Order: sequence, then C-alpha cells, then structure tokens
Amino acid sequence: MPGPRNNGEDLRLHSRQVKSALRRANLSDSFVVGKYSFSPYMACQHGCVYCDGRAERYYVDGDFDRDIVVRGNLPDLLGREIPRLRERGFVSIGSGISDAYQPIEAHERIMAQCAGILATQDHPVTIMTKSALALRDIDLWAQVNARSRFIFVVSLTHAADETRKVWEPGASSVDDRLEALRRFKAAGCVTGVLAMPLLPGITDTSENLKTLYARLAEIDVDFIMPGGLTLRPGRQKEYFMRHLERHRPDLVDRYHDLYREDRVSGAPRASYTAELYPRLTAHNADFRLPWLVPHRVYRNHLQVYDEVNVLLHHMVELYEARGINTRPLKAALKRYLAWLETRKAQYNRHRSWRYEDLDAELTALCRTSPRPAGDGGTTANLTAVIGNGKLAAFVSEVVLERKVLDYVTLKLEGRKDESLTGETL
Ligand code: SF4
Repeated sequence: MPGPRNNGEDLRLHSRQVKSALRRANLSDSFVVGKYSFSPYMACQHGCVYCDGRAERYYVDGDFDRDIVVRGNLPDLLGREIPRLRERGFVSIGSGISDAYQPIEAHERIMAQCAGILATQDHPVTIMTKSALALRDIDLWAQVNARSRFIFVVSLTHAADETRKVWEPGASSVDDRLEALRRFKAAGCVTGVLAMPLLPGITDTSENLKTLYARLAEIDVDFIMPGGLTLRPGRQKEYFMRHLERHRPDLVDRYHDLYREDRVSGAPRASYTAELYPRLTAHNADFRLPWLVPHRVYRNHLQVYDEVNVLLHHMVELYEARGINTRPLKAALKRYLAWLETRKAQYNRHRSWRYEDLDAELTALCRTSPRPAGDGGTTANLTAVIGNGKLAAFVSEVVLERKVLDYVTLKLEGRKDESLTGETL
C-alpha cells in the first residue's frame, strides 16, 4: 500500500477560476463563529489519514493529497467582495477539505495576497490550520487584529511528533505549531486549538490529553475545542482502516466495533461518545479553558442579533454538558430564530436597509418597558417574542448593558465594554 504523499515530486496542480470568493451564511455558525468563508485550495497535501475530506460527500476528485485545486483568481474577487459586505461577521478560512497554508501556498502565495487585502479592511478573520507557514503573514494578520479581530486556530491533537508523522504526515511538526501559537499570542491575537479528531486508543488517552493541555496552557491559549473521530463509510473509512492495520494492528478490532454501525455521519457507537465528552470537558475545566469560542472574543464583531444567536446556541451546548435541562432554552431559541429569520428576510431583500436597524429592533425589544405605539417603536418585548421571561432578562443584560457570559463559570460578567474587550484576553 502506498504511504501518504505530502510534498513534492508527484504533486498535480489543477488551476480553477472561481466565480465568487466568499460563501455567505445567513447567520454565523456556532462552531468557529464564521459568517463568511473561503478556501484558496481544494484537497490537501497535509494528507492526514483521518481527513474526512476524502469522504464521497465532498466530491473531491483524484488523490486527495496530491491532486490539489488552486483557485488563483480568488484574491481579485475577494478584494471586490469584502468592501461590499453589509453585515458584520467573521471571515473564516479553512475547511475540513483543505488547509489554506498547506505547502503549495509557499509557492502560490494566494493567502499572502488575501491577508494583504483583509489587512486593509475592518472585518474580523479566523484561520484554522495545521501549518506554521501562517507565520509568514503574521504582520498582516496582526494588522487585521488591530483593526478588528484575528483568531488563530491551530488543529492539534497530540504532543508527540512521532504521532504526527504517522497520522498527519504533511502537516507542520508539533513544536512548529506550538511556536506559531506562541507568536500569534505574543502579537496580541486570540489563539485557539481544535483538539480534534481525537483517535480512540491513540490520542484520546488521558495521558496524551494531560500533556497536550499542559503545553497549550503554558502558551495561554484562549480556548481548546476537543472532539472525537468520525469515519464516514466509503473512501474515508477504508483509507483510515488500511493505515490502522499497518500502524496499529492491535486496535483494528476495537475500531471495527466502535464504527460498526456505519452511520452516514461517521459517528462511533453512542457509548463511546457518552464516555468521551464528559472526560474532555473535565480536561477543559481542570485548565479553566473554554471549549467553545468565548463570548468575549466574538461579541463586538457580529451584528448584535447574530451575537445573541451564537450565544444561545453555545448556551445549549454548555448547559447540556453540565447535565442541565435545556428544553426551555431550546424552545426559546427556536422562537428567537423564527423571529430573527422573518425580520432578517426583509433586510436581505432590501439592499438599502441597514442591518444596524435590525440591531436597533432587537434593542427595542429588550427594553423592559414597552414603548408607546406611534413613536416608531414597538409595543412588543423580548419576553413575548421568545416566551421565556428569565432568558429575556438575561439577553437584555447582554444587549443593553453589554455583559459577557464567562464560558467557564457560566456567570454573566462586566458592565460596559472597556474592561472586557480583547486587550484583557
Ligand atoms: S490539514 Fe485538514 S484538510 Fe488537510 S488533510 Fe489534514 S484534516 Fe484534511
């Protein structure tokens, strides 16, 4: 069986012109809080054995780690599209099916051009990568951070480079990734780690996690998001299992058992997930590190209605992880989204409308005393919209007083912004 290829001799580049640079979501996602996204490449020289970019659902043709699609006209389009964006929100770079700073970027320099464009704009940016090549553009990303916010997210699941050589052969070494985190942190940027996918019996062990978290805590990263491995039936699972047989034959039976249900999502048996996630959140608690992008990091960089959307989604996850009943919260979130999507559809249709006015609508709803009809205000209030008075009071504190939810203590903190903006991270 051929080993993963990562650099050089048998690389095949495929140039592709794209029609637009940015994908846009109606609301920010709750994972890395991205609203806009782009990817300069498709497929990935890093060749991680577990990469789900190999799964059929992503339609990546050819050999995943050597047939690389290059979107060379992307910077030109980005330069035209960014100034036209009407809503605040993070531009998120990096996807499950390519790494923007994979080795070919050293030659193509598409990201260097994109960083130069984004450094002249006021949009916050998040990058997820396994490559220390991002350091080449650190001055530009620091400029983005000075104007709005830059979040540097490294994907790292282990502290031993021997593990990296087997499972992520083309990615930067562990030490280089840690050094990149250190330098972005020193440059004043927010730093986070995607500690996923953790491989059962290989990187999900308490021993590995303790060492990894300790090294990341030394760097003072702002969050660590851990997660388990999914193996989608088909190319991804077959490729992974071939490598497992070669490198860890002792684990083959266990993986067959964990992934025997062949779920479309690639999820393992529920009993494994039920054991894993409490263990992961306990590691975060031990190091007092949030396992989601913290509220204080994103809150001033989204439209207020979108901040509330992300916050409520995060609260569902945070409270569920503590075993708290989230049914009332989910019901209120559903009603909030129904209201928001209806109102937002109007703003999306009318290009002359300003999304700041939708923020103002939410602010008006948050005021406890209904404003009289006829003054341009509304007689409704947030309690009526979401059907939950306690949560409405909480959201009102966030919206009106700009309070911040601490994701570790789950306490609402601070009055007014100044002491809680990025400078104190
Ligand atoms: S770096 Fe990301 S996209 Fe690239 S192979 Fe690894 S998991 Fe896949």
